[in-house]
Amino acid sequence: MPHNFRSHGEERHGPVGRWDIEEFTKVAEVTTEQLAAYVDDSQRGLVPVLRRRPPKELEVRMDLRRYIREGGMTADSYRDFLRTYLAEGTRLHHPAYLAHQDASPDFPAALADFIHGATNNPTAIYEMGAAGTTVEFAVLEWMLERVGFGADGGGVLTHGGSLANLTALLAARAAVAPDAWADGNPADLALFAPPSAHYSLTRATGILGLGTNCVVPLAVDDLGRIDVARLPESLEHDRRPIALVANACATGTGLYDDLRGVGEFCRDHGIWFHVDGAHGASALLSDEHRRLLDGIELADSVIWDAHKMLRTSSLAAAVLTRRHADLDAAFQQEGSYLFYGDQRFDLIGRTVEGTKAEQGLKLFLNLAWRGERGLGDYVARQYATAHRFWELARKRPGFECPYEPESNIVCFRYGTADQAVIRERMMDEGSFHLSSTDLGGNRYLRITVIAPATDERTLTALLDHIAEIG
Ligand SMILES: *Cc1c(COP(=O)(O)O)cnc(C)c1O
Repeated sequence: MPHNFRSHGEERHGPVGRWDIEEFTKVAEVTTEQLAAYVDDSQRGLVPVLRRRPPKELEVRMDLRRYIREGGMTADSYRDFLRTYLAEGTRLHHPAYLAHQDASPDFPAALADFIHGATNNPTAIYEMGAAGTTVEFAVLEWMLERVGFGADGGGVLTHGGSLANLTALLAARAAVAPDAWADGNPADLALFAPPSAHYSLTRATGILGLGTNCVVPLAVDDLGRIDVARLPESLEHDRRPIALVANACATGTGLYDDLRGVGEFCRDHGIWFHVDGAHGASALLSDEHRRLLDGIELADSVIWDAHKMLRTSSLAAAVLTRRHADLDAAFQQEGSYLFYGDQRFDLIGRTVEGTKAEQGLKLFLNLAWRGERGLGDYVARQYATAHRFWELARKRPGFECPYEPESNIVCFRYGTADQAVIRERMMDEGSFHLSSTDLGGNRYLRITVIAPATDERTLTALLDHIAEIG
């Protein structure tokens, strides 16, 4: 029997800082009611997709200064605050939300965020949450299977793809230069990557002290995809490769590199093969699209974000390695109060973070609700909707689409005017939220079809509207 903590004679509401359970239950209901209205309005497209009031004005609307200095929020004033807060944000459930790759989150994952907020069981060490850590291990085992890594694979969930890339490169460096952790980097290391690789990889070389100049660009085709036939000439270099990076898919274009071609080359030359699948690895769950990732099992390391196409909130990103020992070798540390004895069930040896959120639960609840089939169908539908946009756009006068999309990311231009002006105008109106990217020295508009509410009608309205503005 556990110790009876009630024997101290405290009343129900107890000393300062304890939760008032009635108040909590009430405001949880307020939150549910407000969020339900927010998502309902958003996915029906009844409201602007974003608002861009200046921060000074917003601060006053939300009464931030007073609350920070005086406190005093109650269930009623919280409702008003939350209403304003939600109305002034960006609506990722909105059909016209087409900008960045952040997930339009599904509600099971949202529940996990709520649970984490209340329980705070960080999953870096097992004793801080046996359930959360076990969930994370189970989810990672599933991801390793989907990638095609055998039982020897290892993984960890980390706070975002950028940190996941850094962690993977640490593992790669430990394999190539095991003494670098203690002695610093040898001078002859290089990272080989296509110029279209995510900027976090170049940043990681800066953080690792390798210097960003260690990044050697691979030869690519005119859409930024690795030219496999020219890999040997790209590697004619007097430096030792830490790793060679391929995109699955590239952030800017949404196009996939030839993973089998690149992977076989790396295998034959003994080079660490890193696949950046932050956005596109989720296509592994779709029978129709899995072929885009053919060869991923040849990788030594893969990163895969759940907070993009697996519909969790920010952040939950997996680092997966073919051999778990490689990931365990990424960090070497001392910290006698945490690192001792048998640590098979602790994740802390694999992460930059000392404390990390219950990320596994978000992905687990999405899987438990929708099934991997449901998540795969979502990916397939988003990819199909983006493809349909391309079909519609290329038929229209004035629109230029530089390539056929392979994922839910599409680039296009309208007319010869500055494309950034079109984008700004639509954001000011709150009509559509797009992003833009540079391709071969030209600025393109870019959409990511991520909200389930986006359909062909939305995309036709977008084309009409751009033609009108342009
Ligand atoms: C989004 C993205 C990243 C970075 O992930 P964050 O979670 O935003 O840090 C890395 N690589 C690729 C290919 C991406 O699309």
